[in-house]
Amino acid sequence: MQTNPQAHDTKSLLQKISAPIFKILADTAQQTNTEIYVIGGFVRDIYLERPSKDIDVVVLGNGIAFAEKVGQKLKTNVAVFKNFGTAMLKHADLEVEFVGARKESYRADSRKPIVENGTLEDDQLRRDFTINALAISLNKDNCGDVVDPFNGLEDLENKLIRTPLDPVVTFSDDPLRMMRAIRFATQLDFKIDEAAIEAIKSQKERIKIVSKERISDELNKIILAKKPSIGFNYLFDTGLLELIFPQMAKLYGVDIVKGRAHKDNFYHTLQVLDNICETTDDLWLRWAAILHDIAKPVTKRFEEGHGWTFHGHEDKGARMVPQIFSQLKLPLNEKMKFVQKLVLLHLRPIVLAQDKITDSAVRRLLFEAGEDIEALMLLCNADVTTKNEYKIKKYRNNFELVKQKLKDVEERDQLRNWQPPISGNDIMQTFGLTAGKEVGLLKNAIREAILEGDIQNSYDEAFGFMLKKAEELGLKAVKQND
Ligand code: ATP
Ligand code: MG
Repeated sequence: MQTNPQAHDTKSLLQKISAPIFKILADTAQQTNTEIYVIGGFVRDIYLERPSKDIDVVVLGNGIAFAEKVGQKLKTNVAVFKNFGTAMLKHADLEVEFVGARKESYRADSRKPIVENGTLEDDQLRRDFTINALAISLNKDNCGDVVDPFNGLEDLENKLIRTPLDPVVTFSDDPLRMMRAIRFATQLDFKIDEAAIEAIKSQKERIKIVSKERISDELNKIILAKKPSIGFNYLFDTGLLELIFPQMAKLYGVDIVKGRAHKDNFYHTLQVLDNICETTDDLWLRWAAILHDIAKPVTKRFEEGHGWTFHGHEDKGARMVPQIFSQLKLPLNEKMKFVQKLVLLHLRPIVLAQDKITDSAVRRLLFEAGEDIEALMLLCNADVTTKNEYKIKKYRNNFELVKQKLKDVEERDQLRNWQPPISGNDIMQTFGLTAGKEVGLLKNAIREAILEGDIQNSYDEAFGFMLKKAEELGLKAVKQND
């Protein structure tokens, strides 16, 4: 059934596939007497008006042989993947992938199918979702026609993720599709069909046959969407989150003792994540939002006369980050360190904003956050999720003060990329020391004096201070200030 007349208008579709490559494909099809279709994500994205550079072409016959013909015509290289029966070439800024129409069947222990040649409909049936199974003919008789056996166009219109087959079969065959369903729902702001949700719930354990890397790829795509909470709500409600990222699922829930409840940290975290997505596209800053309160469940206490506390959750949370990154196969590099640092420091600007803002507290924050101070301030702003207008206003005002103060102190003291004005080497030469306890003591004392504002962040002041401090330690200079 066709609900969108525009969509069936062959002329407008042809216009949309007017790039020269389609003419070349259609000509080659005619000359070689081969039937071909553009299929999958590229077709879907035409309707959604999303730019896309990957064109999938399904060939009724030998996909690799057809690709090589097109390659000859374009005088361009064709990359052949014999094992997969696919071939790929690049034209202008487009990537065209060719595959023979195929029929797939699955075994229980693997998401890799047994493949045989099939019809166009077989090929559409093996696709994950109806909106990803749309095909456009590039054949002379019906060029530009949409082939839509599963009402994918209607689902596009209704913003629905639905599977061509029984969803239990679709998800059991290749459980990665459960993640893909949730990822597309998040990226496109679509709903997942009720039967498909039920199927994910019943097949969720099958996710265990999918590699961690593939799962995290999808997770990261969810996190990079405009509103990632859509995806995390699906992941949580279907029970997948518990399996792929249990620490996050544990944030869910509210305890009540003596009539006092704490906020639900799962929904709070989702709010913080959605908030930060309005100010940054950075995947790792978004991860910091996800992980900022990750240790709240394990640090939660009810203290008499005080209520709920989560003492040390920032510290414990930072220490949980490497384990979580490793479990999710995320990179264990400076990106992880960045996330760790933000989790550790996420309360600091708020605390600053609540107290009287002293220069030394600001200097310490700048010193510890370094280059990541702006990211930290964004995280803190996103962390304000109270509904109380008065409180929001107060926080935001105080934040502006903190920001101003950060700027002032930074301009004056230049602590962002702070390097000690006097190095360990300088200290050793001045006092004729070898590396050891005294050098560390002096270095720390100089740093503390600068952060406290007792001395300026300059070589001369630091040198003078060092001499005094050394005297207290009974050290004598063997070399003068130069
Ligand atoms: P995007 O490129 O935005 O991730 P896409 O739909 O193009 O979206 P690809 O992974 O590029 O996704 O796959 C291209 C097409 O191949 C899909 O549109 C779909 O028809 C099919 N496909 C991909 N992965 C699967 C899968 N796991 N199961 C079934 N069909 C799939
Ligand atoms: Mg694609």
